[in-house]
Amino acid sequence: MDHKKLDYRINFRENSQIISIEITCCDKHIGEIRYKDRESKQCPDCGAVHTIKIQHNHFHITCSE
Ligand SMILES: [Zn+2]
Repeated sequence: MDHKKLDYRINFRENSQIISIEITCCDKHIGEIRYKDRESKQCPDCGAVHTIKIQHNHFHITCSE
């Protein structure tokens, strides 16, 4: 599947604390998720699910169909 213009915008405070992640998929802003383990958002166009996985000193954002 071709995710045209996939983008994750990470919002953080001045103290570098991460607040939220805004997701763009298929050229559209599909929404915002809180910085919380297993939070996810599904793209209404391609059906891809974007999920955040937080581990002890890092996090991943994965995209699955
Ligand atoms: Zn999409």
